[in-house]
Amino acid sequence: MQVPFLDLKANYLPIKEEINTAIQEVLDNTAYILGSKVTQFEKAFADAHHVKHCLGLSSGTDGNHLASVVLGIQPNDEIIMPANTFIATAWGATLCGAKPVFVDCDKESYTIDIQQVEAAITPRTKAIVAVHLYGQPANLDPLKTIAQKHKIALIEDAAQAHLAQYKGKPVGGIGDVAAFSFYPGKNLGAYGEAGALTTQSDHLADLAKKYREHGQSAKYYHETLGHNYRMEAIQGAVLGVKMKYLQQFTEKRRAIAQQYYQQLSGIEQLILPKEMPYAQHVYHLFVVQTVQRDALQQFLTEKGIGTGLHYPVPLHLQQCFKNLGYQAGNFPISEQLGKQCLSLPMFPEMTNEQVVYVCEQISRFFSQQ
Ligand SMILES: *Cc1c(COP(=O)(O)O)cnc(C)c1O
Repeated sequence: MQVPFLDLKANYLPIKEEINTAIQEVLDNTAYILGSKVTQFEKAFADAHHVKHCLGLSSGTDGNHLASVVLGIQPNDEIIMPANTFIATAWGATLCGAKPVFVDCDKESYTIDIQQVEAAITPRTKAIVAVHLYGQPANLDPLKTIAQKHKIALIEDAAQAHLAQYKGKPVGGIGDVAAFSFYPGKNLGAYGEAGALTTQSDHLADLAKKYREHGQSAKYYHETLGHNYRMEAIQGAVLGVKMKYLQQFTEKRRAIAQQYYQQLSGIEQLILPKEMPYAQHVYHLFVVQTVQRDALQQFLTEKGIGTGLHYPVPLHLQQCFKNLGYQAGNFPISEQLGKQCLSLPMFPEMTNEQVVYVCEQISRFFSQQ
């Protein structure tokens, strides 16, 4: 049996007609940037996340940058963020000339370690980035308390966490500003590059809207600096269709995670992810840990099972941040994850047989050890 890590074709086929019709409408209208399809999607996405504003963007990376821009992050400012995340989390700070300050992640939730955040605050700190890693919200309440106490901002990197909930509230409107990604492999994926910024603040939304479109208030009148961070109409059309199924896709992911928990919980050598009591995890990734990670991955590859590593090198050990002076040993939990993490296949269309097969092969691997 073949079990891909992700199956975008299985996702497309059942909604092919609807998607093709929506794309055809964009082609017929010959309006390719922003426009009504994007506006409709923005409204649906904002409503689903109980947030006042959603702006469709060119990518999640641009969303991270734009979040820092609208918060007024400047050179020499510091932004605290977890070391275990995708590199784009850090571009928000660095593209503003600010310094990313890394802290470790929590051993159980794999999201940012609250105690270390408090300890990393300096007079230069301007923001904290809470990454809802693998689809699980960071522990936002204590982060909000720290942010309020020090009068700094809280950014949510929600690229992996569409519809995830923190204490019953959807992510995206809890911090000051949030960035989402619609990269094709994300829980809500476009058919190309796309992202969004969400916020409850009229002021930040207004700034973001201008910056997204060359800093202009009216065509060719540029009030502020800007960039071209607009979402394409075709992506808005695709996302508008897929948005209707997002709740259903999310429930499927959660059901597959439950099957994994049930079928893998007896394996002593395997550490399973933990859904925290405050979180509704949306399982963008199902990340297990084992000291025999490389051998297990190899074994599963031979059995036709696709896996991934998220992430093999934590940010403080990336070549591009060498100048920041971090060393191996600084963040043991992130470093351990780098060596031991393995992401199992996870996509809404995964069949029961596929999940059973993956679990059987993992059991076989460990019973041979
Ligand atoms: C995917 C991702 C991003 C970047 O999104 P793109 O749309 O690929 O630019 C940022 N942060 C995290 C945590 C991500 O997983």
